[in-house]
Amino acid sequence: MGRYTGPVCRICRREGQKLFLKGARCYMAKCSIEQGTPAPGQHGARRGRKMSEFGQQLRQKQCLRRQFGMQELQFKRFFKEALRRKGVTGEILLQLLETRIDNLVYRLGFASSRRAARQYVLHGHMAVNGKTVAIPSMILKVGDVIEVRDRPRSRDLATRSLEAATTQQTPMWLSLDKKAFRAEILSLPTREQIAPVVNEQAIVELYSR
Ligand code: SF4
Repeated sequence: MGRYTGPVCRICRREGQKLFLKGARCYMAKCSIEQGTPAPGQHGARRGRKMSEFGQQLRQKQCLRRQFGMQELQFKRFFKEALRRKGVTGEILLQLLETRIDNLVYRLGFASSRRAARQYVLHGHMAVNGKTVAIPSMILKVGDVIEVRDRPRSRDLATRSLEAATTQQTPMWLSLDKKAFRAEILSLPTREQIAPVVNEQAIVELYSR
């Protein structure tokens, strides 16, 4: 599966909001959004452009997709899965994204960004219910236990990241045992707990066109 490897601050500038793609730098004053750097491109500095309804929906979708570092095809697969499940499609889509193992590694503070978390999982540092997992897009369910493997390299990386992650709090729907490098999914997150940066209903409407 291909992935975007270019400059990530450019993505935040394009979307006009902080997507927290770069770890510690995102909480510093040198963040491009904090500094008010305009959107990329020749007309990036032009403000007040009127956007069509389709344009607005498209931006919402791009924003969420890019926040999770996903390509269009994979994102659409997640949407189809959300559509298939019973409940409010937009909220289910958010829950599916939140329970990806790479996102959990990031939320738990074992990696400083989702991008780093993806790499961390790919390199085989994580285990789910006692089995090594190296698929960053794997979706976990309630009751699953996720842990950093008991290897010096894996634990060193996680310790460094946990020490640096002072600004991040463990979400209520996860229980983290820092000493054991282990966490459990207590429940699926609600929309309020996720506090998405987008209006997910606009994404549902976009894909329903
Ligand atoms: Fe986005 Fe982080 Fe870069 Fe700020 S520092 S623009 S939040 S990736």
